[in-house]
Amino acid sequence: MDYNSKLSTQIRDLPRSGIRDFFELVIGRSDVISLGVGEPDKPTPWPIREAAIRSLEKGQTSYTSNLGLESLRVAISGYVENQFRMTYDPKKEILVTVGVSEALDIAFRAMLNPGDEVIYHEPCYVSYSPSIKMAYGVPVVVETREENKFALMAADVEKAITPKTKVIALNFPTNPTGGVMPPEELEKIAALAVKHDLLVFTDEIYCELLYDNQQHKSIVEYPGMRERTVLLHGFSKAFAMTGWRLGYACAPAPLIEAMMKVHQYCMLCAPILSQVAGIEALKMGASAYEDMRQSYEQRRNVIVSRLNGMGLHCFNPGGAFYVFPEIRSTGLTSKEFAIGLLEKKSVAVVPGTAFGAAGEGFVRCCYATAPELIVKAMDLMEEFVNEVRAG
Ligand code: PLP
Repeated sequence: MDYNSKLSTQIRDLPRSGIRDFFELVIGRSDVISLGVGEPDKPTPWPIREAAIRSLEKGQTSYTSNLGLESLRVAISGYVENQFRMTYDPKKEILVTVGVSEALDIAFRAMLNPGDEVIYHEPCYVSYSPSIKMAYGVPVVVETREENKFALMAADVEKAITPKTKVIALNFPTNPTGGVMPPEELEKIAALAVKHDLLVFTDEIYCELLYDNQQHKSIVEYPGMRERTVLLHGFSKAFAMTGWRLGYACAPAPLIEAMMKVHQYCMLCAPILSQVAGIEALKMGASAYEDMRQSYEQRRNVIVSRLNGMGLHCFNPGGAFYVFPEIRSTGLTSKEFAIGLLEKKSVAVVPGTAFGAAGEGFVRCCYATAPELIVKAMDLMEEFVNEVRAG
């Protein structure tokens, strides 16, 4: 059968995830030190796992309300108020989703008409552009630059706005660079959104993982923003719950209602087991992740210093658990560097181009890895860089 002719052209023409492509090279190789996958290196804290075990013992295995368990939505409302100084009504302004991934997907599907433009920044998480395209929207890339520590400049956003722009999508702290937003730029982007009557989707998945005593500030906190912002957050990173697939969206009721329509038909609800675990996670709050955050800050300091020490320029990122060193001085492309390092030294990093063309000349290293493995990986990378330079 000619399967190609049977596929949706829209899906057929989507690129495969650059991360997935790269990780297929690593599968089954136990000798590899991976600075690749973006997830915490520890399992979910025990009290959270225990709450889920207890819920299974009680036989809680049913569907929940499409919006999610009300007790979880109440807990989310309290957490979000504390974290973002913003109040959402658990009855109609919070939707529990299958990770931030689903929340992003249904936000685009619920709000885009064919041809609507979405401004987003690259390098960025791999799912933005495909999710926009799957919702028949048009991705409009604004590049962020190393000279600005990969923050998004309001002047660049302004140049990208057209009469077709409907949404600005933000993610800070950012995957893959670890960049954070200076409040003055965030404020200017908020003013642009208000001036041009745009929606803003803000993916806050790394907001708890901030270093150097910074206070997180979200775009939703600026004047005129609450009514036009969809705040997306989840449990994967700070609570080390990637496999539980749990996230949420907070927004004004009409936007949540539209997202709910997509969610109820394609997902019904997030798994009840994960929702029960989520309640426990929010009960623990910062005590679930503060030690991990401090340990990541130390690992970041080590890896940034080692990379700069071997002549790979690397800015000091303020958040998440990624560093994004520049590898141009080796004369290799991002992909050549990542493949060479894997083949010659069995260390996995992700080519910057997996996160968009603006990532050329960089690689992403995730430092949510045991400190001794980071040191070993840096020793091996230094050998590799020296060998490449020696020709
Ligand atoms: N958004 C960003 C920026 C991410 O880096 C990731 C995962 O790496 C996700 C969303 C997906 O999150 P979830 O596990 O909640 O679906």
